[in-house]
Amino acid sequence: NIEKRMDFIREKITEEVKSDKNGGKLLFRFPPEPNGYLHIGHAKSICLNFGLSQEFENAGTNLRFDDTNPTKEDQEYVDAIKEDIEWLGFNWVGEPKFTSDYFDQLYAWAVQLIKEGKAYVDDQDANTIASQKGTPTTPGTNSPFRERSIEESLELFEGMKEGKFDEGTRVLRAKIDMANANMHLRDPFLYRIIKKAHHRTGTTWSIYPMYDWAHGQSDYIEGITNSLCTTEFEVHRPLYNWFLDQVADKDKVRPEQTEFSRLNLNYTVMSKRKLLQLVEEGVVNGWDDPRMPTVSGLRRRGYTPTSIRNFAETVGITKRDNVIDVSLLEFAVRQDLNKTAPRVMAVLDPIKLVIDNYEEGAEEWLEAENNPEDENSGSRKVPFSKVLYIEKDDFKEEANRKFFRLTLGKEVRLKNAYIIKGESCVKDEDGNITEIHCTYDPLSRSGSGTEESKRKVKGTLHWVSAAHAVDAKVNLYDRLFSDEAPDADKEKDFKEFLNPNSLEMIEGCKVEPSLLDNTAGDNFQFQRLGYFILDKESTPENMIFNKTVGLKDSWAK
Ligand code: ATP
Ligand code: MG
Ligand code: MG
Repeated sequence: NIEKRMDFIREKITEEVKSDKNGGKLLFRFPPEPNGYLHIGHAKSICLNFGLSQEFENAGTNLRFDDTNPTKEDQEYVDAIKEDIEWLGFNWVGEPKFTSDYFDQLYAWAVQLIKEGKAYVDDQDANTIASQKGTPTTPGTNSPFRERSIEESLELFEGMKEGKFDEGTRVLRAKIDMANANMHLRDPFLYRIIKKAHHRTGTTWSIYPMYDWAHGQSDYIEGITNSLCTTEFEVHRPLYNWFLDQVADKDKVRPEQTEFSRLNLNYTVMSKRKLLQLVEEGVVNGWDDPRMPTVSGLRRRGYTPTSIRNFAETVGITKRDNVIDVSLLEFAVRQDLNKTAPRVMAVLDPIKLVIDNYEEGAEEWLEAENNPEDENSGSRKVPFSKVLYIEKDDFKEEANRKFFRLTLGKEVRLKNAYIIKGESCVKDEDGNITEIHCTYDPLSRSGSGTEESKRKVKGTLHWVSAAHAVDAKVNLYDRLFSDEAPDADKEKDFKEFLNPNSLEMIEGCKVEPSLLDNTAGDNFQFQRLGYFILDKESTPENMIFNKTVGLKDSWAK
């Protein structure tokens, strides 16, 4: 289904396949650094890189952990990243790969560059080196160590590897051109000294390769044909190619880098560094807090893999940077859950409704359709009895003609049940309504086919039977940030823009008993209220639901 969508990357690949480039084989990769959980921006890249291998023949996608910085990386992140990719519905070729698997080869190539006079050890610290970089319009200054002998660089580089020098005292640099118009070609770093145990290689290494040195070479080692990355790496492409020129064999596949625009979403932050800060400072309850833009947070919020893939497809692949409105993400999940989520009744802010003419102690189990959008979803039975709960704000003693809910003297239908008429209400000494009384029309039962059941009434209310209801807690969410671009102003701390009301936890909600038969992660539509998911910490004794999204876009102007 290549016709399904077209963008400049798919067009390019289609042409490559036609011209039999690389013998018609395609190999992509998704290269996360295991220094945090995946976010919705990564999901865009995953849907592209893994999606392509599903769309094209003779294509695959590698999962490669770009684990070149032991100070920030951890096995926990490796595990979480794998789980998220599989949950999104994608598979990688063979076992996951790790850049750290290539440390020996990368080291050998670095030694080769030194021997060819194309790399040297610089004894200056990073600040000094930065001060010699020049500007985009003025050339940089050569390091005083640039012309040191090959032998000396080889010996020092080995010393760096052996751990003989302190962090920050030396780096290995490529000898390219300190006056090049592209700043990335001004003798970039290949290695720096880091004396920290790596989550896979332990203390074997005291030096770690820089992204630019590791990335293209890892692509080359794996035989990647198309290395797709975001547009901020466009200026790195000449360096990516310079390194390949030094090491690549003419007979082997030469990877080609192509850039596409990153996903930006409003009302959130997406840098892993900032997300980590929110987790570490306890602003949110972990990486999978349902307010987080992480894949695990979206999952816990009730997003489905389909909704995230559809969102990525809607956003599309372009070269142009733009900010996507978060309501597009909400639209995607609402659209998917509308088709798939069973309808149930839950009352979040309950008040008692007593049916005066219904027999005390009697009960009946009424037929309720599970999902009108899905003809295979069947129906279930919901219990009905004399005392029910309805939402407090579904009743007003008196109301104007636009209030289509329950008032005294007027009729409404109870969903899947009967037509009732408001009769009276009981108040406490402060005047708050504590109980509503009504009468029902026994001939008006939904689906009974009687004339009474077909009577048109203005409103339909959801309800649960008090004697059968199950208690539940419900988490309601609002945006985590109240500002559209919380990290736009570099002078300010993005946390200044946190929304203090992003989480509202409500207890004492009443849900229909069929919900006890479900498992964590199941999605529902609470009728008239929105979409909800059974939280992973929910138990039958302590049910917890998270609100995914409302039935309508509450942000639409
Ligand atoms: P962050 O800045 O959040 O730490 P990163 O790019 O450093 O992100 P990586 O783990 O290196 O994180 O990213 C893995 C892949 O995901 C890269 O190929 C990167 O281009 C892609 N990616 C990351 N963020 C986005 C985004 N917002 N939109 C599209 N692709 C993204
Ligand atoms: Mg990165
Ligand atoms: Mg990063």
